[in-house]
Amino acid sequence: MSKKVTAIGLFSGGLDSILACRIIADQGISVRALKFVTPFFDHDLLADEQAYQREIHEKYGLDVELVDLSEGYIDLLRNPAHGFGKNFNPCIDCKILMFSQARKIMENSGASFLLTGEVLGQRPMSQRRDTLNVIERDSFCKKFLLRPLSAKLMNPTLAEEQGLIDRERLYAFAGRSRKPQMQLAREMGITEFPAPAGGCVLTDPNLASRIKRFYAGLFSIGQEQFQVNDIKLLLVGRQFRLPGGHWLVLGRNEQENERLEMLKNDDDWLFFMPKRPGPTALLRRATDRLQDAPEETEILRLVAGLVVRYGRKNKGQILPGEVQVERDGCIDILQAKPLGETEFIRWLC
Ligand code: SF4
Repeated sequence: MSKKVTAIGLFSGGLDSILACRIIADQGISVRALKFVTPFFDHDLLADEQAYQREIHEKYGLDVELVDLSEGYIDLLRNPAHGFGKNFNPCIDCKILMFSQARKIMENSGASFLLTGEVLGQRPMSQRRDTLNVIERDSFCKKFLLRPLSAKLMNPTLAEEQGLIDRERLYAFAGRSRKPQMQLAREMGITEFPAPAGGCVLTDPNLASRIKRFYAGLFSIGQEQFQVNDIKLLLVGRQFRLPGGHWLVLGRNEQENERLEMLKNDDDWLFFMPKRPGPTALLRRATDRLQDAPEETEILRLVAGLVVRYGRKNKGQILPGEVQVERDGCIDILQAKPLGETEFIRWLC
């Protein structure tokens, strides 16, 4: 009996990638759908990969695996060869990185080809024909990469030439309209799918500009020290660049306060008011940068002052209060006065 042909699908979770994988699976090919994650998109799925796999299998009958690209991605953002899109999104290099990784997985696993849900001309930059060619070329995927939704508008790939799949049962979608995809989804019985705009924070104007400034040296942390946890921290709460470049984050609600507690590293200091509702504050790498430094007392005053300032008011008044600081396994109580807006407004970022 001949071995079943396997294809590697690049799976974003959006409708186009669902359709592309289904089109190929419906031709009797075994599709391994890969979903790449980085701290800039979908990283939290790693917390429960099995739940995500179950969800995708139940909804679309596809087998998906998460692939963590964080390390390479944090480096990539320093200087992407093809530059950035409208915000801090290096879409072309992002795809080259994903496709290269998928190709390696294809080669190592003995799969026969790759597939994506790209549609010719759907996005102004990254899905133009010349850009698609550059991505294919620079990821060394030429001839291996099948785009089932637009395949009939492109040269045949190896999988078609070798008769592994039937080109006649592929599509010729192009352009920005999503009607043909919606129609195809209905024909396939797919009724539930995410909105087209993805969850990539690098395309969000506010967050992207913050990430960009972070890379440009917003806080006094060397680029070579950036870690996944730093990027996650960058996406939470109110951010402050304190005098000296110290990095402080305040939660804006209970959920963010919990998130900060989760993101706390051993050398971070955590602040909160033990007797009143208010923000949790996290001072990044404080042991390393601040312990016994001349400015330690002053920075403690500022952080405690901010925690009190953003705490719940009492009859419309912002009152002084106690702030607990947890650092290096020790707990201290500080008596804090709220900071005035004019003092801290320039530190907000
Ligand atoms: S939007 Fe984000 S995830 Fe998508 S290609 Fe661009 S950088 Fe990559």
